[in-house]
Amino acid sequence: AGGRPWELKKVRTTCPFCGTGCGFDLNVRDGKIVGVTTDASAPVNGRFLCVKGRFGIDLVHSPERLTTPLIRKNNELVEAEWDEALELIASKFKEIKNKYGADSLGALSSARCTNEDNYVMQKFMRVVIGTNNVDHCARVCHAPSVAGLATSFGSGAMTNSIKEIPDSKVIFAIGTNATEAHPIIGTKIKQAVRNGCRLIVVDPRRIELVNHAELWLRLKPGTDIALINGIMQIILAHGWEDKAFIEERTTGFENLRELLREYTPDKVSKITGVPEEQLYRAAEIYACAERAQIFYTLGITEHTHGTDNVMSLANLAMLTGNVGKENSGVNPLRGQNNVQGGCDMGALPNVYPGYQQVTDPGVRRKFEGAWGVTLSAQKGYMIPDMFEASLAGQLKAMYIMGEDPATTDADSNHVRRGLQALDFLVVQDIFLTETAKLADVVLPGASFAEKTGTFTNTERRVQMVNQAIDPVGNAKADWKIICDLAAIMGHHFDYEAPAEIMKEISSLTPQYAGIRHERLGIKGMQWPVFGEDHEGTPYLHKDKFTRGKGLFMPIEAAYAKEMPDEEYPLLLSTGRKLQHYNVSTLYSASLFEHAPEELAEVNPLDAEKLGIKDGEIVAVASRRGEIRSRIVVTDKVLPGMVFMTFHYKDAPANFITSGACDKVSGTYEYKVCAVKIKKIEE
Ligand code: SF4
Repeated sequence: AGGRPWELKKVRTTCPFCGTGCGFDLNVRDGKIVGVTTDASAPVNGRFLCVKGRFGIDLVHSPERLTTPLIRKNNELVEAEWDEALELIASKFKEIKNKYGADSLGALSSARCTNEDNYVMQKFMRVVIGTNNVDHCARVCHAPSVAGLATSFGSGAMTNSIKEIPDSKVIFAIGTNATEAHPIIGTKIKQAVRNGCRLIVVDPRRIELVNHAELWLRLKPGTDIALINGIMQIILAHGWEDKAFIEERTTGFENLRELLREYTPDKVSKITGVPEEQLYRAAEIYACAERAQIFYTLGITEHTHGTDNVMSLANLAMLTGNVGKENSGVNPLRGQNNVQGGCDMGALPNVYPGYQQVTDPGVRRKFEGAWGVTLSAQKGYMIPDMFEASLAGQLKAMYIMGEDPATTDADSNHVRRGLQALDFLVVQDIFLTETAKLADVVLPGASFAEKTGTFTNTERRVQMVNQAIDPVGNAKADWKIICDLAAIMGHHFDYEAPAEIMKEISSLTPQYAGIRHERLGIKGMQWPVFGEDHEGTPYLHKDKFTRGKGLFMPIEAAYAKEMPDEEYPLLLSTGRKLQHYNVSTLYSASLFEHAPEELAEVNPLDAEKLGIKDGEIVAVASRRGEIRSRIVVTDKVLPGMVFMTFHYKDAPANFITSGACDKVSGTYEYKVCAVKIKKIEE
């Protein structure tokens, strides 16, 4: 790895890409990262890494890094000093607050930043600005998990641990392309199969896990609730439910039983496209196993009925007593490196750190006491509402840290119009993203390699991120930038170092009560950590659910908002590919070289009908816009379906995705919208 061993400094840290949370050593020589190495001590991955963790870190030294603040002058972003940039922001924020009120400002915090950065950002908005208008990209991925599992179990997080996966007896993997989106977890699922685990895959697309599955339920996109209800109906019809668990640990069962009567196998088979015989086999394998666990990702959450999908899975687990034990639970695989932490830190418009409601007077008093201000009792805007409010003239300024909604949010032309309608936009990032290009002030943040703090991975493991190199150019750690801005605005957040921020977090966040930087070491700790003598919690809901009794919610089947029709006859579904993590890995020369362009998947029957060939560049259009993409003709997708990723700037899939949202959580329906494909005439 680039140098003689004795010239290298090795700094253990946590991968900045996906929520698996792999640990590795950054190899540093002359202030530059020259390689990444691993050893067996990393708790999640041991010696293994996927291609992103192993080769994507070159983006830290990308020539495209932002190295100095930029201010818009005569419609151009020009270099500025930190003082000038921060004073301009402080004066504009104050002016807007005085003129239109605190709720006319909003912020996006970041699932890519540390817990400490996120904590300070939400505190800045609540204390300095005086609003709960703070949200982050959990809104566009797993907000339905937070809302759905909190309703069913009382706690919206993965119930079990990654290390349990290889010993699983049965895995029900629904809407999760783990080998590409969470590759190390995908590897562990394959390991489990080699150890005798029975794998059921539920996915409309022939993902790699299908090759390892005993059973593949190829359902029509968006019919998950009908499928799960159908499986539960069969379980009840055969008496395979766990009667003792239902009796002792749950409530609301009779309502569910009543609803399930309608979901007969023949009816469910027609809705979902899954043969009845496969529904029976899935029900038997899952319900009759000694232990079984569910894994899901955005195939479940990114629907207009995402929260209902999540609660349906919770119903299935409780019906069979498959929760509260090792190798037995409901496991949302969180997407980004610190999206779990972003939620835990209260970078959400309805809760403070630790999911404590902003509308609860007792909770508010606690935070008012700690922070020394009067806090707003009003829930803030969720991300989609922010752009609507901006277009309606109610939101006037935004502070966006480490997110690029102009690329990553659905119906992104609409999002861009919302951003352009603001009076004042501040973007803090490590690259000049599409969102940053629209900003009035751009602030250069430090990358994960240039700061200290913690990330919380998908299994609730809080792990250290250790500074390996100095920030590039004039970049600064995000928490530090926010503290400097707060000071100019008259609020002194007196933190010398991120360890002090964590002390404040633990004093206010019950799940983090016993977490201190000095306790984390290489292994990290899984919340809840109730005190300084508590070692953390590998799996949740052991003897009792966080909410007391688990709650069965009767859920009626619901379908996507926009389905194919005569004008737009194809169904577009979006997701990730192995080599990329959202859009930031495009700045990694090595990863980009391996996967340089979008390849929209089209079924051979559709390709023939449309007269298009493998490798051809076509136009893909929806009611919201049109993009161009090369196609690959493959039976990985069903006839009538198109699959694209959202990674590429020159084929921005979110120009055409639907802005329809889950009614509870506001998460966009990235998994289903109607499109057409047109040949491009030369
Ligand atoms: Fe990083 Fe995720 Fe790959 Fe692990 S699996 S190396 S956390 S991108």
